[in-house]
Amino acid sequence: MPELTVVVPAYNESEGLRDFHARLAAVLDGMNVESAVLYVDDGSRDDTYAVMCALREADARVSTLKLARNFGKELALTAGLDHVETGAAVVIDADLQDPPELIPTFVQHWREGYDVIYGTRASRAGETGLKKATSAGFYRVMERLSSTPIPRDTGDFRLLSRRALDALSQVRERQRFMKGLFTWVGYRQLPVVYHRDPRHAGQTKWNYWKLWNFAIDGITSFSGAPLKLATYIGLATALLAFVAALWVFGKALLFGDPVRGYPSLMVVVLFLGGMQLMALGVIGEYLGRLYVEAKQRPLYLVDEYHPPQG
Ligand code: UDP
Ligand code: MG
Repeated sequence: MPELTVVVPAYNESEGLRDFHARLAAVLDGMNVESAVLYVDDGSRDDTYAVMCALREADARVSTLKLARNFGKELALTAGLDHVETGAAVVIDADLQDPPELIPTFVQHWREGYDVIYGTRASRAGETGLKKATSAGFYRVMERLSSTPIPRDTGDFRLLSRRALDALSQVRERQRFMKGLFTWVGYRQLPVVYHRDPRHAGQTKWNYWKLWNFAIDGITSFSGAPLKLATYIGLATALLAFVAALWVFGKALLFGDPVRGYPSLMVVVLFLGGMQLMALGVIGEYLGRLYVEAKQRPLYLVDEYHPPQG
């Protein structure tokens, strides 16, 4: 019965997975904890799963979980965490961007009684300036909008105690913004600052369009603020319209000005049309998510699960 399971979601990571495991195993060997490693294959199209199986053959701590197709990192993580039946769990990326060497520090704080110990990035090597800037912007926006304060510059790399895991397993929403959910459970949380390394091998699975959608997922699952936006924009526009109406009528009554209307009319009509479509779009974002939720499909499907050989 492991006290600590390291959950590793991987999608097309065959290139670097062996090196990852070597580094992780070295760290686990040096620790005084009964540990296990769970690799989750998120429908990879390369031979990631074969590598995982080979690792399981060679190391009695390793178990493998193969999902039926690519469900995305958030669901791969969920599937992995659902399969941690005893003890605590550590979540880590397979690309060595999160240093496994930090795990002993996590464990030390866990022993001190913390429930969620998360890595906060002091720096991110090997990321473009644009990625860092957009990411920083996102965390700042989230900070203002979210009902749950989501820590800055924090990824999924963290340790979750048993009760945090149990709490998390009760959250079955389909649109899973894991960083937010990890924080949502509360209990005793502690940041640990670290320097994020560049990717060890292979390619990132994110592009800007995916990141943009991820950001919208995050905002819509933790904040209703965009819905209120329409109310306030509407109010402001109505106020402005009232002032403009006074001005136009006043001018017409006092000076008898014939109003030359076409350009201003066009501007007003287009402005209002745009505003209305935007507000509809915001409602649509929430409604679409409600629709997915209402369908009650399973979160993920498992193809194969192999517990450790030990
Ligand atoms: N990942 C996954 N499913 C996906 C995309 C990514 O399990 O659909 C895994 C990936 O293999 C890696 C982690 O999630 O272990 C982080 O992905 P990546 O390094 O591409 O993200 P980045 O570090 O660039 O944000
Ligand atoms: Mg990465």
